[in-house]
Amino acid sequence: MTANLLDFDLEGLAVFCEGLGEKRFRATQLYRWIHQKGASSFGEMTDLAKSLREKLATTAHIAPLKVLTEQKSADGTIKWLFDVGHGDAVEAVYIPETDRGTLCVSSQAGCAVGCRFCSTGHQGFSRNLSSGEIIAQLWFAEHTLRRTLGSTERVISNVVMMGMGEPLQNFSALVPALRTMLSDHAYGLSRRRVTVSTSGVVPMIDKLAQECPVALAVSLHAPNDALRNDLVPLNKKYPLKELLEACHRYLEFAPRDFITFEYCMLDGVNDTPDHAHELVALVRQARLPVKFNLIPFNPFPASGLLRSGAKVVADFAKILQDGAIVTTVRKTRGDDIDAACGQLAGDVQDRTQASQRMAQRRVVMMRSATEAQSAAHAHKSTSEGTA
Ligand code: SAH
Ligand code: SF4
Repeated sequence: MTANLLDFDLEGLAVFCEGLGEKRFRATQLYRWIHQKGASSFGEMTDLAKSLREKLATTAHIAPLKVLTEQKSADGTIKWLFDVGHGDAVEAVYIPETDRGTLCVSSQAGCAVGCRFCSTGHQGFSRNLSSGEIIAQLWFAEHTLRRTLGSTERVISNVVMMGMGEPLQNFSALVPALRTMLSDHAYGLSRRRVTVSTSGVVPMIDKLAQECPVALAVSLHAPNDALRNDLVPLNKKYPLKELLEACHRYLEFAPRDFITFEYCMLDGVNDTPDHAHELVALVRQARLPVKFNLIPFNPFPASGLLRSGAKVVADFAKILQDGAIVTTVRKTRGDDIDAACGQLAGDVQDRTQASQRMAQRRVVMMRSATEAQSAAHAHKSTSEGTA
């Protein structure tokens, strides 16, 4: 197996180049070819010495993700579904706005946190994505969009780690990918425009502050531990008090002077005026500068939950605002292609299809084994079966 160069941040690539007996600055050239120019083969890297290109051809590769589908919404939102092997797929969503282009990126296939209102959570955990698979979503989206829009300028200005998965439960793969997003030799995104969204993995919030402080969004969804335990099971491990203290500590290192709190509005569950007043009291007591983002719930059948009505959301926002908390209501984008938050795993039917694919795969493998076919052939049938 040769090395996938998308797995490396600049420092990692420098170490790799040194291992090949090359000078470190070669890594910068290589990194720029890959991330700034979107190169996927060494042959096109014309200013690298032929001897280096030959060495790279036998020791390394650049592995793009396989695109299963591309869906475009009437509002310009684009959702890509990528095959990450063994019947797993992850999604990235591009959301164009007048003053920015945002890419929503996945960090895991599935998620182990299991929030009640989230279809990824209902799907369960499959595996962590590698750094290469995380950055490949940006690499693909940025260079595909530049080509289709005929742009020589950067198209994606913001990244939010709000796709499938809990980024802070895949920390070691997340950080090199974040560094590549930020590097001036790669995507050059501002720290303020790269957001990690977390359900509240307290020790990793502290680690992120040390290793790669970017903007932080915390998925709050409830004003007290009893309700949050029910909606976000991770709260039992890291209750609100600890979470709010971690937010405080993070602010010392954060590129912004506030933390964003995401709050998914669930009809009759967490959306009453009492809940809003309780939130105001919580934030006041914590003395934490925050901004609230109220997210209209995107329903899916297995959740048994419903979206709060527009008036309920507006009244809730008003109570927070009257309590001196900056509050916005998130516009839902890409509704017609199921690209809105929490729909990224598709619906339950998708899950069923995934299980069917897995079952088919097992059949293929068993059949291959009994027919004493080569492992390579079995693998080929398998990957064709999942496409
Ligand atoms: N695991 C991380 C990031 C991915 S989820 C986290 O939980 O923060 C990104 C955002 O989508 C979170 O704020 C999450 O609460 C929200 N979300 C999940 N399911 C949703 C749904 N069905 N409707 C609306 N928002 C949802
Ligand atoms: Fe995981 Fe986030 Fe979904 Fe919760 S909301 S299950 S943490 S992806």
